[in-house]
Amino acid sequence: MAEPTDTYHTGADDEVPDLSHSEDEGEEDDEEWECMEQDADGVAVTCLFCQRSFSSVPETFQHCQSEHGVDLLQLVKTHRLDDYGYIKMINYVRTEKCSGESLAVLDGALPWDSDEYMKPALPDDPLLQIDLEELIGAEFPTDGASGAQSEVGGQGGALLQRAQQAEERAARSEEALARAMEDLHKLKMLAQGLVLSAGRSAPLCSGAVAELREDEDEAYFSSYGHYSIHEEMLKDTVRTESYRDFICGNPDVFKDKVVLDVGCGTGILSMFAARSGAKKVIAVDQSEIIYQAMDIVRSNQLDNTITLIKGRIEDVDLPVEKVDIIISEWMGYFLLFESMLDSVLWARDRYLAEGGSVYPDRCSISLAAVGDTEKHDDRIAFWDDVYGFKMECMKKAVVPEAVVEVLKPETVISDPTVIQTLDCNAVTISELEFSADFTLKITAGTLCTVSRVGYFDIFFDSGCTNKVMFSTSPHCTRTHWKQTVFLLENPIPVHTGDELPGRIVVRKNRKDPRALLVTLGLADRKLTYSVQ
Ligand code: SAH
Repeated sequence: MAEPTDTYHTGADDEVPDLSHSEDEGEEDDEEWECMEQDADGVAVTCLFCQRSFSSVPETFQHCQSEHGVDLLQLVKTHRLDDYGYIKMINYVRTEKCSGESLAVLDGALPWDSDEYMKPALPDDPLLQIDLEELIGAEFPTDGASGAQSEVGGQGGALLQRAQQAEERAARSEEALARAMEDLHKLKMLAQGLVLSAGRSAPLCSGAVAELREDEDEAYFSSYGHYSIHEEMLKDTVRTESYRDFICGNPDVFKDKVVLDVGCGTGILSMFAARSGAKKVIAVDQSEIIYQAMDIVRSNQLDNTITLIKGRIEDVDLPVEKVDIIISEWMGYFLLFESMLDSVLWARDRYLAEGGSVYPDRCSISLAAVGDTEKHDDRIAFWDDVYGFKMECMKKAVVPEAVVEVLKPETVISDPTVIQTLDCNAVTISELEFSADFTLKITAGTLCTVSRVGYFDIFFDSGCTNKVMFSTSPHCTRTHWKQTVFLLENPIPVHTGDELPGRIVVRKNRKDPRALLVTLGLADRKLTYSVQ
């Protein structure tokens, strides 16, 4: 799918910390503690050791210390935990339901060392959303190379106060951001309405004129209401021809089947499916493009086979109990930006018949090292001297935004490494947030790696006589997804044959689940990037 023009960017290392907002004085004394207190976002923070919930992370920390004798920040310092260590510790405690006392007597290897504890024990756990460095970094600066914390005595109260101040700052920034996004969206909607009314002689079907909407997800669907995004996708021949070759090249898969097209857009995939012999195709889209799809399907005399339904797949009632096949083009930048796969998996779990299949059925995300000094000069070194002035601080704003662009293949200086493979028939929504260790093997000369590139490959495989795949790699024909580039402020010197160990963490931004945060560690550099 193309990317909506409304983006949901959040800063990365400078990201507003995801601390909860509201304060509720005297809550400690509240006898009715089993009633969950909630923060401004309606998210309650559950204690690690009991069932009690609080309205913010600092309050929860305070409670753990006073009621259970566990100073979590002190534990982080004592065991020199970096972000991953902290996340694993929280998940470990929740999963294993260990007591406060057991944490006081840890000796030797940490019991949460295993990567299995990267998986959240509690969905949307606010304790996993905090910025650890923000919480303790000012007083206890981290050692960038190892992620270790320097030793300082326990001053939990001062830290909590600082955390609360950060929380207030975050709340104010978020309000300002929300207002700005709203204004931006209204402007876009206005402009879109003007373009549509200027460019068409006949009025659109009723309801298709862009309305001003405030809710973020409506903004997302509004952007898909405009023709241009669909034109871009249809003209992406790598994308559209791959779907066509898979659907029309495998009539044995589609013959007499009931097919669900999640996010049908103009209806192109549904029409391929009808052409390939499907008995019935149900095409669902929440955006107003579906009114065009209705006309398109009628003009092609496919309305006996294809039923179009406007609405979110999660909300609509389908005219069938189960479907044999689900097709969808849900991919976003770096595969997972936009989180539309969540909707496809939801549809799979609700509607897919036993033995049915989701297509594409497999996808992978890969990384490689990039040595493009020209680009580094242009994007990073540029700020060293701007008309004779130093503007280095701007690099801190530039670097954490992943760049979506087409990369010259000759700038790739390592073998690619697959960091994640998804089986669309088995993966769960929670597995779409993951971490992985990888190694980049340098293949080209004595160069500096100045960035990393991410891209994805898509496979139509299972049960197909004619298997189809396409790649968004810099070595293949460009697609509208281009590649996703993660810049480095300071290049890492490398030589042919070097093997750079790295680690990646991909997660959704809790404040905006359609946005993606990617934390990339390579050699001794670690940074969180936003993908927009
Ligand atoms: N299948 C079309 C369009 C793909 S773009 C094609 O291949 O050209 C993705 C489409 O999915 C958009 O039109 C968007 O509005 C729709 N969409 C995304 N999430 C959805 C959901 N949860 N329910 C219904 N439609 C959705």
